[in-house]
Amino acid sequence: MYNIAVLAGDGIGVEVMAAAKEALNAACRRAGGPRLAFSDYPAGALAYQQTGTALPDETIRACEQADAILLGAMGLPHIRYRDGTEISPQLDLREHLELYAGVRPIQPLKGLASRLADPRAANIDFVLVREQTEGLFFERRKTQIEDDAEARDAMVITRKGSERVFDFAFRLAQRRKARGRRGRVTCVDKANVLGSMAFFRRIFEERARHFEDITADSAYVDAMALNLVMKPWDYDVLVTENLFGDILSDLSAGLVGGMGMAPSGDIGDKHALFQPAHGSAPDIAGTGRANPTAMLLSAAMMLEWLGDRHGDAAARSAAALLHGAIGRAFAEGRALPYEFGGTSSTADITRAVIASLATDDATAAGARKG
Ligand code: ATP
Repeated sequence: MYNIAVLAGDGIGVEVMAAAKEALNAACRRAGGPRLAFSDYPAGALAYQQTGTALPDETIRACEQADAILLGAMGLPHIRYRDGTEISPQLDLREHLELYAGVRPIQPLKGLASRLADPRAANIDFVLVREQTEGLFFERRKTQIEDDAEARDAMVITRKGSERVFDFAFRLAQRRKARGRRGRVTCVDKANVLGSMAFFRRIFEERARHFEDITADSAYVDAMALNLVMKPWDYDVLVTENLFGDILSDLSAGLVGGMGMAPSGDIGDKHALFQPAHGSAPDIAGTGRANPTAMLLSAAMMLEWLGDRHGDAAARSAAALLHGAIGRAFAEGRALPYEFGGTSSTADITRAVIASLATDDATAAGARKG
């Protein structure tokens, strides 16, 4: 049994989290294990408004002790710290638990219209790895404002922080290569302008020499913004600093249909947290229109991570079942999210995915009989 700390958070975070729990339980039942024990903890903008604390100590301790963490979404535009920044305890958790690799897989699902007209868009399959403990986010909430005339946020790049995220990206590319992908890591930086980014690229090139089976190249972030629209199917694994990764991950989510389609895992050496790439979406919260797909795909990533970490075949198979069911729910036309012009509610999509888990059993049983 795995203990899962659940931080549903704000807005649609609460709605998509309910979907994730249901789908995870159903997938684990179908796979014959594992059992998941969910425990809910407060965190986020509402928690801050109600208690004065966005990330209570009890929540931090629970996250430290859990086998994995599931997070919905946090932050609301009308509840802010005094300096005007949004409440984002997920960033504090990343730093506290050293969840240095933000892993954002980008792959379109069949049955959902592509945002790009080029037919090669069907072949998009890359993973954006975002460094999450330093970079341009390092000095957030420590901004120096002098005499109301000048404000500074420094870019912080360390050798330790860079080496570990590059090694993570190379190892990910090796695992993907074993499954038939190209085996390529592209470092995204601004080495032509900033010394910190030239340092970042130099460390990338040093680490690349330890992974000779993987092709390593680099691109400037502005060129990458262009290429991710012009030829996103060209890429395998991208690795970049914190803010560039934040921006490119929203662009990448757009390539596969919208924020409701983009899962993510925040992974460190000891802990991991899984959450959709989207925010609390106050514009649609409470309407039932939230697309839970990003959350469900993140939940499948959690099962896969637990399976790999514990050598647990049942968890890996539950992950594969859930991932497959999400794909089939759309490919077989059982649901169409609002983001794609459909009318399927959060609950409709969840039901469609759970129904698709059953068809996987039928296929498997058919295969056994045949
Ligand atoms: P944050 O800064 O907290 O990451 P954000 O400013 O990027 O948040 P989101 O909350 O992700 O904003 O919302 C961006 C847009 O995408 C909004 O129009 C929102 O309605 C839409 N959106 C986000 N998530 C979903 C979802 N799960 N289903 C449908 N639409 C969504």
